[in-house]
Amino acid sequence: MKIFSDFLNFNNTRIRQNVVGVQFCNPKMSNLKLASHLDKDTVTFTGKKIPSIVTPTMEDLIKRTKAIDVLRYNVLRLAKHDVPCPVCGGLMFDTEKSLAFDQKLLQSKNPSDILKCIEEYSKYLHPVEREIFKMMKQDNVYHENRTLFDMLKRRLPRAEKRIVQQQSKTFSNIGLLSRNLPKEMRLNVQDLLNDSFDRILDPRETSRFSRQIFIYKLKNTLIPESEKNRLREKFEKEFLSKHSRIEENFEKNLIDFIETKLKVAISLWKVYTPTQMAILKEAYKLSKADNNVDAFIVKYAKRDYKGANPDYKIATRMLNNSLATVEHVVAQSKRGATEPKNLSLECAACNNGRGNNPILKQIEDNPNMPFNYRRFMKRLCELHLQNIVEKSYITQLNKTYNKQSCGILDADLSVMNKRGKKNKPQYSQTGITPTKAERRQARKLKLKQKSNKNKKL
Ligand SMILES: [Zn+2]
Repeated sequence: MKIFSDFLNFNNTRIRQNVVGVQFCNPKMSNLKLASHLDKDTVTFTGKKIPSIVTPTMEDLIKRTKAIDVLRYNVLRLAKHDVPCPVCGGLMFDTEKSLAFDQKLLQSKNPSDILKCIEEYSKYLHPVEREIFKMMKQDNVYHENRTLFDMLKRRLPRAEKRIVQQQSKTFSNIGLLSRNLPKEMRLNVQDLLNDSFDRILDPRETSRFSRQIFIYKLKNTLIPESEKNRLREKFEKEFLSKHSRIEENFEKNLIDFIETKLKVAISLWKVYTPTQMAILKEAYKLSKADNNVDAFIVKYAKRDYKGANPDYKIATRMLNNSLATVEHVVAQSKRGATEPKNLSLECAACNNGRGNNPILKQIEDNPNMPFNYRRFMKRLCELHLQNIVEKSYITQLNKTYNKQSCGILDADLSVMNKRGKKNKPQYSQTGITPTKAERRQARKLKLKQKSNKNKKL
């Protein structure tokens, strides 16, 4: 257990704890017989069973921790090869690069040095961070000694004003759209809007506005329980038309069917009327530090860095969102096992944003996820063709995602079967299968070339 506490002392932030790979850089780990895994280029997951913990001894616990670490480490190793995040699609930053970045950052003495460090890794920056970086670089040209923190602070008043303006605009748009809703629903939406207006105009920190809570409340207003019950009845009729009550586990299957259908319908926005969809789309435009430059400025210019060097913190924050982390597809709190088929990669921002939510909720919050997921899987397939990851891991992971998303997330893995096709000899230039005579001719030509080579030698 000492190993673990060593690691926790090594870097005591929440994100770093996620990145177990860091501890393998610790020389103290060498006695853990992990060398064989580190030497191999291919990431494999076979033969590593995680011991059960029914009656754990200390040795069992250490074995178990080791086995889990090897698994997580193997998954994280994939991030070395520039894999895009399956949720947001941004390139992920791996632990080794992160450590190298930290080292360089600690050695840098002035803002220009820090900006040079970030520049080197700029392809990993998420869109907001990229904008902030551009802005800082421009500032640096004219004011060489201005710190990153000062750059943000100078922009705070205008950023804050813009955020409030944006929020009020979104609220009025939602208000306008809500005129087409039924009366009761319209009044409920307007109550919510009034409360939110109060919050954003109130300068006291006590009644801060939360985007997440606002969207949550808005959704509940738009699909009230009565509407959900109507949908449940509809799905029940659908189930009854196909199944009879004599079947085994009838009750359980019926409830499962209805709840799954309802969840899918909500996450694909199938339950909303066009007006409601327009309202929700408008609500999602509300800014947060992850998707809006002004929100980023407000958040980090107002932050209390408690004696730490703000520039170092800000620079680290710029790349931390892109850091690759291990993601349990079925959350651990929902009994998701730590086994290869349930372990995936995800950038820190998406992983933290997800919490314990099921995949369906994650898709609901990230409408581009099905597209980004296919890009993620495509990259894994490419890595398989380069012998970097084994096929069974990709196939199984795809199955887990597919099952958890009720079929919404699905990737075409057939690329993996095409290995070596390109290298096959092609005799006929017209693309038609070569005839016997053509093949004979090609063989002769090959032999001739060989003998010529030998003669030259
Ligand atoms: Zn992401």
